[in-house]
Amino acid sequence: MCGIVGLIGSRDAAREAFLGLTTLQHRGQDAAGILTYDSDGFHRVRNLGLVESVFTRENMATLPGAMAVGHARYSTIGRGDLIDVQPFLIGYPFGIGMVHNGNVVNCASLADDLRNKSRRHLLTKSDTEVVLNIFAEGLSRSASVHNAEELSFDHICEAVGHVFARAEGSYSIVSMVADQGLIAFRDPWGIRPLVWGKRSAQPNTNDVAEGFTAAHIVASESVALGFLGYEPVRDIQPGEVLFIDLKGNVHTRVLRQEAHRPCMFEWVYFASPESVMDGAPVYGTRIRLGRRLAKPIRRQMEERGLAPDIIVPVPETARIAAIALAEELGIPYREVLIKNRYIKRTFILDSNEKRQKAVNLKLSPVRSEIEGKKVLLMDDSIVRGTTSRKIIELVRQAGAAEVYFVSTCPPIQNPCFYGIDFPVESELIASGRTHAEIERELGADAVIFQDLQGLREAISESGGKNFNPCTACLDGKYPTGVAAAAAFAKSRHADRVPDTK
Ligand code: SF4
Repeated sequence: MCGIVGLIGSRDAAREAFLGLTTLQHRGQDAAGILTYDSDGFHRVRNLGLVESVFTRENMATLPGAMAVGHARYSTIGRGDLIDVQPFLIGYPFGIGMVHNGNVVNCASLADDLRNKSRRHLLTKSDTEVVLNIFAEGLSRSASVHNAEELSFDHICEAVGHVFARAEGSYSIVSMVADQGLIAFRDPWGIRPLVWGKRSAQPNTNDVAEGFTAAHIVASESVALGFLGYEPVRDIQPGEVLFIDLKGNVHTRVLRQEAHRPCMFEWVYFASPESVMDGAPVYGTRIRLGRRLAKPIRRQMEERGLAPDIIVPVPETARIAAIALAEELGIPYREVLIKNRYIKRTFILDSNEKRQKAVNLKLSPVRSEIEGKKVLLMDDSIVRGTTSRKIIELVRQAGAAEVYFVSTCPPIQNPCFYGIDFPVESELIASGRTHAEIERELGADAVIFQDLQGLREAISESGGKNFNPCTACLDGKYPTGVAAAAAFAKSRHADRVPDTK
């Protein structure tokens, strides 16, 4: 999972890309990069680390231009070296820069084809480089491109169509082509989000570049638009391509559309609560996820004699749902797990060892409020169980009489191949275990999960009744081919240290 942003027509595109990436930092904390373009060519700064540590006043001054793409990286593939840090760049045809959020599940076979059939040498294991090369191949194959000084929208659609015909999986892409403009497209299933915004030139402001009547932004989440003063235009549709040329002309076309399957985990955990994704506000969805848990919890209170004294969120994501649940059940809400704000988000850390350390350092319980109480802990999800087990232990050590653990997400039983690092089945605590075994493994007096229908209803209530998010990690129904996905998983896990949430 990553955060991406693209801008065109902005007087200071690099600065806005930097601020946009800062609002998307929760989507990836491993590395960051910005690429700009002006009449002198491409300019790029990228490095490992948080957005704020990668960019300095000095290196930002080397990023001129009214067009930029930026990336905040969460590595699920590759070794996490500098060479894997986006934006990626290719010199032919025209000069193309690209950022990507998602996972192309048939990446390995596409990379083989590029090497063996197209004689294109790949420098990294990144699926972004694969998509970039396929897109470049599409552009150069497009009949008139070789002689064209200016790309037509048809040329671009042909190149994106070339990608759509080959790449399976999730890919939200923002690309810029030298002397041509900004291009954005989203995979035909719309698995990862991508939203488009616009800021018209105002008489008294100076933030739209010369020659443009408006600046445009494309970003992973609407939180970036609001922060930078852009009005949302709309989400990029599944299978749609958007092209904004250097005169500010806007072109859009849906090239291929499958059933729309946006990832449910964006609403459950990943997205910022201020964001609205595909028409469904994240905050409102999390409220509903909390409310919908009241029913199964009441049932368990009756059947198993559970009697929570306080409801405690595991910070940060579960807070909104826990407030809603506390209101619904009339049980006091208490924030008594205090987070050390200087420790990075646990789930997103990329190695077992790093994550173990983070759990220990991240949360401090308020003993005076926990001692002797029956504590209902609420978290967004349970993946490997490592974090949940540690937190339950922490609350018991602080003197809790009983500990119940509630998840706003149903049991995660299958791997994700589309950009969230849910591992192979054997590492998932809910895979192949009975409910009683999960409770025992976690050391909880009770564990209560959201059910699939509750999750679907919570998301669909704001997304519309035909909204059908991907829930493959819960029910095994993958929107794209499973065979390619399985091959992809092998290549990914061969390269990575397993994670532990
Ligand atoms: S498998 Fe799960 S985490 Fe992956 S895209 Fe689908 S819903 Fe999201």
